[in-house]
Amino acid sequence: MRLTRLFGVAGAVLALLVCGMLGRLLWGEWQHYSATDSGRHTLRLMRHSMVAAEKLSSERGPVNGVLGDRAPADPARREGLLRARAATDQALAELQQALAGGARTSVLAPLYEALRAARLTVDRLAALPPAERTPERLTAAVDAMFGLVPLALDTVTGYTRASEDIYPRIARILMKVRFAVELREYAGRLGSALTVPLARRQPLTEADRRQLQFLRGRIEQLRQLIKMPSSDADHDPRVLAAVARMDMVYFGPGQQLVAGVEQASREGQGYDMDTAQFARRYVPSMAPILALRDVLLEQAQEQARQDYDAARRELMLALLIGAAILLSLALLLLIVRRRVAVPLLHATAAAVRLGNGDYTLDTLAHRGADRADEIGDMLRALSTLRANSMERQRLEQERGHLIEELRVSADTDYLTGILNRRAFTAAGNQRLRGACGRNEALAVILFDIDHFKSVNDSYGHDAGDQVLIRIAGVVRTLLRDGEIVARYGGEEFVVMPSHCGMDSARALAERLREAIAGEPLTLADGHILRVTASFGVAVAHGPYAALDDLFHAADLALYRAKSGGRNRVEVQA
Ligand code: GH3
Ligand code: MG
Ligand code: MG
Repeated sequence: MRLTRLFGVAGAVLALLVCGMLGRLLWGEWQHYSATDSGRHTLRLMRHSMVAAEKLSSERGPVNGVLGDRAPADPARREGLLRARAATDQALAELQQALAGGARTSVLAPLYEALRAARLTVDRLAALPPAERTPERLTAAVDAMFGLVPLALDTVTGYTRASEDIYPRIARILMKVRFAVELREYAGRLGSALTVPLARRQPLTEADRRQLQFLRGRIEQLRQLIKMPSSDADHDPRVLAAVARMDMVYFGPGQQLVAGVEQASREGQGYDMDTAQFARRYVPSMAPILALRDVLLEQAQEQARQDYDAARRELMLALLIGAAILLSLALLLLIVRRRVAVPLLHATAAAVRLGNGDYTLDTLAHRGADRADEIGDMLRALSTLRANSMERQRLEQERGHLIEELRVSADTDYLTGILNRRAFTAAGNQRLRGACGRNEALAVILFDIDHFKSVNDSYGHDAGDQVLIRIAGVVRTLLRDGEIVARYGGEEFVVMPSHCGMDSARALAERLREAIAGEPLTLADGHILRVTASFGVAVAHGPYAALDDLFHAADLALYRAKSGGRNRVEVQA
């Protein structure tokens, strides 16, 4: 796998893992946060439902008052009942609103239905003359009212359980809240149990007494449950004060009032109060129970708010940490990419180019060379390698030039610049082999400057050198491509025309002789010098010709040209 791809895949996998982990963390925090938020809402619902239950309990007082009323009816009692009903309706409306409308409000439908029926029963009974309000009818009406309270509490039972799950810390407080609500309800029932005897001014029956005993037992049980230490809230001064006030008021004068009625009944004395008078004194004694409920509920709400704030803080913290981790990861990947991956790629490309003989270094590789880290070390090493390679290449080129120069100088006559005898022999042998192979003719023209010794003697050795240079130049200009000329000895030259027979070679030798003879040479001292040369021409035939034989034949012809008078061309015999 290419490094670029590996880097991309590794980065993506790392980003995925980190995002997954952060997502999991944030999701957990969000769940906790939204649970605490909805839990607070549930607590509000609880409060509303308890207030509604309380109002329904309270409504029983005025109901008892109206049902215990004698003819003619007391408008004040009727007025009291209407006020109590308005208070209940108001509490139910608030509960309904807190349930936030929609399908949830349907949980209140059975309660509304039962409330409507119970009120109708009460109103019908109240409209009857007192004598027709039999104990059975009164008990039925009061029972109908009793049945409303559990219905009101049940509307939020589900929510309450949810709250306890979300806030295990406050579950014990909520339990005590429920005990307080129940205590208020049983206290109400205790008062209501006296309604019928008080209304009918009859002594308590055996069943009434058993009922009172049961209710008192339950009330005492709830009181102990409330007082039992179960959480930090029990030590809160507000809770302690509320419990003390409940003990002092309800379990003091409130209970004494009930005991007074019981005692009067037992002793067969008449009651010194009617139902409404009893209610006016008994109902306020229950207020501290509700106050305790409210204090406990406040405690629960306060703890819920603390949980909510903590959950919100943790969510914000998780968000911040998540953002910081993502930012750091992105920065890390960016730095690794810019500081490692990209320079590495450039260095690799440069190394590959170096290997291919391309010594260009891009700007990034140049710029990175001043880095103090390992990548910088590598780029510097690359730069050194490049410099060494370039130097080696330069030396190789220089050596090539030197070899070429040596080769040329080994083949060249130092004075005239034309081929020397060694080079001519090599080239001549090669040509001869080619010509033999193709069965072609190959000619050699050998010429020697006439009386050259006298040139040296008369004008000096330098003048002789100039003559040699000049003659080499003249001959070269007359030859065509592929025809070669070489200095064969001191003032002897040899020409090898390409693929020609004796006639052509002879004609060429003639042209050369005329050109040499016709070309005057002006010396440095102003003398004009004319020289001539004698030519011997030989041609090789057949597949087994040898260069030495060819030269020998040409030399013989040259000898004849010298002896024949010089400045002439002789061909092999
Ligand atoms: P001939 O016509 O019989 O060839 O007479 P010649 O004088 O040319 O022949 P000879 O062999 O007697 O003399 C050749 C002379 O060429 C002798 C030598 O000093 C001279 N010579 C040979 N090489 C050079 C050279 O490179 N430069 C100069 N200036 N002279 C040279
Ligand atoms: Mg000679
Ligand atoms: Mg000579």
